[in-house]
Amino acid sequence: MPTTTRPTPETAAFDVEAFRADFPALAQDVYEDTPLAYLDNAATSQTPAPVIERLEQFYCRENSNVHRGVHRLSQDATEAYEGARTSLARFLNAPDSEQIIFTRGTTEGLNLVSSTFGRMVVGEGDEILLTEMEHHSNIVPWQMLAEQVGASIEVLPVTNRGELRMDRLPEMLTDDTALVAVTHVSNTLGTVNPMGDFIDAAHAEGVPVVVDGAQSAPHLPLDVQALDADFFTFSGHKMFGPTGIGVLYGKREHLEAMPPYQGGGDMIDQVSFEETTYDGLPHKFEAGTPNIADAIGLGRAAEYIMDLDWNAVQAHEDAVLEYATEKLEAVEGTRIIGTAPDKTSVLSFVFDDIHPYDAGTVLDREGVAVRTGHHCTQPLLKRYGLPGTIRASFAAYNTREDVDRLVDGLRKVRHMFG
Ligand code: PLP
Repeated sequence: MPTTTRPTPETAAFDVEAFRADFPALAQDVYEDTPLAYLDNAATSQTPAPVIERLEQFYCRENSNVHRGVHRLSQDATEAYEGARTSLARFLNAPDSEQIIFTRGTTEGLNLVSSTFGRMVVGEGDEILLTEMEHHSNIVPWQMLAEQVGASIEVLPVTNRGELRMDRLPEMLTDDTALVAVTHVSNTLGTVNPMGDFIDAAHAEGVPVVVDGAQSAPHLPLDVQALDADFFTFSGHKMFGPTGIGVLYGKREHLEAMPPYQGGGDMIDQVSFEETTYDGLPHKFEAGTPNIADAIGLGRAAEYIMDLDWNAVQAHEDAVLEYATEKLEAVEGTRIIGTAPDKTSVLSFVFDDIHPYDAGTVLDREGVAVRTGHHCTQPLLKRYGLPGTIRASFAAYNTREDVDRLVDGLRKVRHMFG
């Protein structure tokens, strides 16, 4: 059973209009008399007023460096920064906030693990198992590691519908598999992977698992202990938080055994020219002045999300996705890429032979923001024989009206290019 729960159908209604009012960016016209229908949430979500206000409060009242100051502002900043870490531990149900490392985002989280833990556990002749649906940031760092140590990359394929070939997993976990890195939710297909089963299968063979949670953090309740993930990483800007900040969670025994990622101030215990000893968790992995304001903003975003009625939010998100799927299927010439039964908030499609970029440009003039291209998953698109797709991706503030705007926009696209 996946450890992430899906919504129960008989949940209270979600007041989407009240929720939308929290997001100032959604209320704007992007062209004259053309309101924004923002459907690019898998790339970056909009930011709610409480997070913006928290950032403002930091810069107006607390702006100062953390950990090193005796003065009032530094103490306040440190308290807020470490408080954010505590919020994020709660968001992930991590056993201890010391296991929450602030990073620049998912990409840095994955690079941190590959260049520290990866170097410890992957050696010459070993295999790193990835899946065909990985984002480039969960491919390239592992390729770099494999090249450095003489290991190889193995790839678990996906089905035509966009599900992982779980039936192939046992045979792909060989005696040589040293590590698995897998995405929780596909940013291109929307597939929710059976993460619990996946991790159990890897652990049964003694293989640690790194989970790319970039697309699950905004949509699924998370519990790293129930999942038993060795590492879990995500980005703030996809979950109503600021850009340039993210989180890496790791099991304590791994984090303690790992060497530091970067050297510098704030990560040391004692420094001399002969020898340097390092600070404990989590500071060992946070060299230099961290992104204090945005970490605090991300903590606020996590609190904001945790305050929502998740059954209601998920029921709403699933209803919008279902509506969008039906509406899109009814538009002649569209083909949805990614039709797994367990999906969340992503609708990728092609539209006749119309280039996704052309479609995206026309949709933009209609105020409909979608993403077009390979979505940083070139190997996956190659698997489907496509150079790119049009991707509409939803957040809890999206409505059926946004979907209708997309469908109307597609009619204009057909008119121009069809
Ligand atoms: N992994 C997945 C599944 C993603 O969707 C993304 C971003 O789109 C990333 C990793 C990289 O995230 P970031 O650019 O915030 O580091």
